[in-house]
Amino acid sequence: MKLYELTISEAHRLLKNREISAVELTRSVLGRIAAVEEQVDAFLTILEVPALEQAAAADRAIAAGRCRALTGIPLGIKDVVCTRGVATTCGSKILENFIPPYDASVIGRLKQEGAVIVGKLNMDEFAMGSSTENSGFKPTRNPWGTACIPGGSSGGSAAAVAAGMCLGALGSDTGGSIRQPASHCGVVGVKPTYGRVSRYGLVAYASSLDQIGPIARRVADAATLLNGIAGYDPADSTSVPVPVPDYTTALPENLKGVKVGIAREYSASAGLDPEVFAAVEGAVRTLESLGAELVEISLPHTRYAVAVYYVIAPAEASSNLARYDGVKYGCRSADSADLHTMYRRTRSRGFGAEVQRRIIIGTYCLSAGYYDAYYGKASQVRTLILQDFKQAFEACDVIACPTAPTPAFKIGEKVDDPLTMYLSDIFTISANLAGIPALSVPCGFSGKGLPIGLQLMGRHFNEEMLFRVAHRFEQATDFHKRRPEL
Ligand code: GLN
Repeated sequence: MKLYELTISEAHRLLKNREISAVELTRSVLGRIAAVEEQVDAFLTILEVPALEQAAAADRAIAAGRCRALTGIPLGIKDVVCTRGVATTCGSKILENFIPPYDASVIGRLKQEGAVIVGKLNMDEFAMGSSTENSGFKPTRNPWGTACIPGGSSGGSAAAVAAGMCLGALGSDTGGSIRQPASHCGVVGVKPTYGRVSRYGLVAYASSLDQIGPIARRVADAATLLNGIAGYDPADSTSVPVPVPDYTTALPENLKGVKVGIAREYSASAGLDPEVFAAVEGAVRTLESLGAELVEISLPHTRYAVAVYYVIAPAEASSNLARYDGVKYGCRSADSADLHTMYRRTRSRGFGAEVQRRIIIGTYCLSAGYYDAYYGKASQVRTLILQDFKQAFEACDVIACPTAPTPAFKIGEKVDDPLTMYLSDIFTISANLAGIPALSVPCGFSGKGLPIGLQLMGRHFNEEMLFRVAHRFEQATDFHKRRPEL
């Protein structure tokens, strides 16, 4: 077995026993990047020299008896998370030259753990998209079929993990951007509870929805990564001061007594691909055979989720993105005679079409006289969606459904049809609106060999239950054992 193919837990064991070194492991990962990145295009920045320095430091720590769960583990970071001294572009031309003077809190934590950061990963511009085709630099391709999209917006993160170009990665999820690409690339992705992980240093898209979370090839690895980044941070007033359990300890438990909710509304969903439907059905039967009890639940307001999201997210984005004006940081158009022309040219040239569309929609929704009709109304329906979940979780412990309505589609297939693209997140958006945790785990393949994901959603701050159910499912199935051929 090649070292880059190791899971995080296997690599940790070998590092700890000093059967391999962090430098060897990092070299193997860098070699894999050199071999297949041309086919996948997952990276915006490859950090070869700093990664090898971090690996050497990890080897010294291990030699001194300090081998933590992520010490010496090569990871990739979505380019929306600030890294000190390393370009952080958000997939946007407007931030092409932005080099943050500080690390995001999650990066500080990973560095303290001794993790090795091999690079920054491609994404839809400002995390707006479902295919990574909205990157201002290049599209990323799906390792399972390079004519297909990897999903988005964390498409670089999911593709890099699937292709063995890092052992795990961080993504961000505002409406599905960790889970949907994880599903399309056959890996595990977790959107933690709103407030579970610090967002200090995460470039804001829609502040009431954004969360940072892990992507990995195994459920246990995702749990280890979340252990590394979760917890209260005084620098982020939305992070919640509640204790963080060790997410790996609940993994060995069985599913006896676990109630899995099946939402009536989801199985009748229009646009649900028959192969996805069949794979998720099969996964639910597997959970039942493992001892889980199935209960029917209802999420009556879920059909408004996409509409609510496409008011709230653009509204918040239009406000968050006002800061890119060519004055404080990022790019500035050089050829303007006056201030207003400079603003206009900087923003017209710096932002791509989808970002401009969202800014226009959001600005309109928030304009005087329209706020109550749009943002106000959407917020009220959002509360109803949250109440649906609260009621459902009185009857069940997790809700199981598809992550994405279809397997990965072809590059270019939906770029001219934003509304169809928006429906890629029909199953994932509700969890962000309600702030609950959700996870995607591989549960099948399409006839064309493209991965399919099962989504599990849980109660606020009950990520443990998601890990427990997903881990048991993973152990009972073989989907995670297949690898893309590159
Ligand atoms: N696809 C959704 C959007 O474009 C979700 C993106 C995300 O979660 N960042 O907004």
